[in-house]
Amino acid sequence: MIDTIYIEDEVRNHPKVKAICGRFPKARLIPCARYGEIFNPKAQNFRLQKRRPALILAKKFGRFVLQAPRGYGIGGERNFYFSHMLNCMYDCRYCFLQGMYRSAHFVVFVNFEDFQTAIEEKIKESGGEESYFFSGYDCDSLALDGLTHFVDSFLPFFAGRPRAWVELRTKSVQIQALLKHNPIPNCIVAFSMTPPEIGARLEEKVPPLSKRLEAMKRLEERGWKLGLRFDPLMDHEHWKEAYQELFQEVFRKIRISSLHSVSLGPFRLPKAVYENMYRLYPDEPLLSGPLGEREGMVSYGRAVEREIVDSVTRELLRYVPKEIFFPCLVNKSDGEPISISG
Ligand code: SF4
Repeated sequence: MIDTIYIEDEVRNHPKVKAICGRFPKARLIPCARYGEIFNPKAQNFRLQKRRPALILAKKFGRFVLQAPRGYGIGGERNFYFSHMLNCMYDCRYCFLQGMYRSAHFVVFVNFEDFQTAIEEKIKESGGEESYFFSGYDCDSLALDGLTHFVDSFLPFFAGRPRAWVELRTKSVQIQALLKHNPIPNCIVAFSMTPPEIGARLEEKVPPLSKRLEAMKRLEERGWKLGLRFDPLMDHEHWKEAYQELFQEVFRKIRISSLHSVSLGPFRLPKAVYENMYRLYPDEPLLSGPLGEREGMVSYGRAVEREIVDSVTRELLRYVPKEIFFPCLVNKSDGEPISISG
């Protein structure tokens, strides 16, 4: 799957780099000074790169842990996100990553230890208050776990810090590493879901809903806390029926008692990100459909958005108690991507 690996000079002797390169003995290894040389130049074609992305192994400096956008949360006041990876092996047409980055190559920041130091600092600043750390902002938390061993590195870390929650947000079924560990009470494995007929059009390479529900079921049986994320909510000819059927299917399989939290959020993109995506996919109906700009964000018109959010919320609350429902309806004037990916 990976035939080219760029390696920053600074991390060439890092044990994680050696382990990852060992997985791809035939890959071309290309040294580089900083990952931005490969990742940031303007003249790149995200769409072409997406077909055969390279891997970039890099070191992150600073800004390890960032404040989550306002209004984002699953029950706590202190919400942060961190990105050990940039980009994703799946290809969701609504994903803001395609408009956020110029390159579709996967960047893995191998200095996990520095992320953990930064998380530890945030925990110390909390004065004992619970803090939430979201790991699936710029990537899918688990899709490439077989490569990054993110779970093996971060679960033991969070296991020793019970006032800090970690959310692993995913559309993948890469749960092998989780099944090797005992569940920890402060970890939420949150699965993003879209009705299958909408997913079939907009989510390339994503495992089918049935497989994701199987993965959830296995985690549930092992005692993991689960999350459900219906974000973004997508307009579609039969969206009402599609979400009704999705919820029937999900809640037939998943016990409410295993859920830590359920959230949803409307489809929305920062204007600049939307414009980049439109340039990449001018023929994509989702991006050329009836969208409007409000407060720097591009989304469905206010009435359509309201109708979808209200109707899907009502339907969802037929299954889910209000206490674990956290809609992501944030103040859009932030101008930030308010969709955590995954
Ligand atoms: S929405 Fe999530 S799963 Fe889809 S491409 Fe983006 S990060 Fe990957």
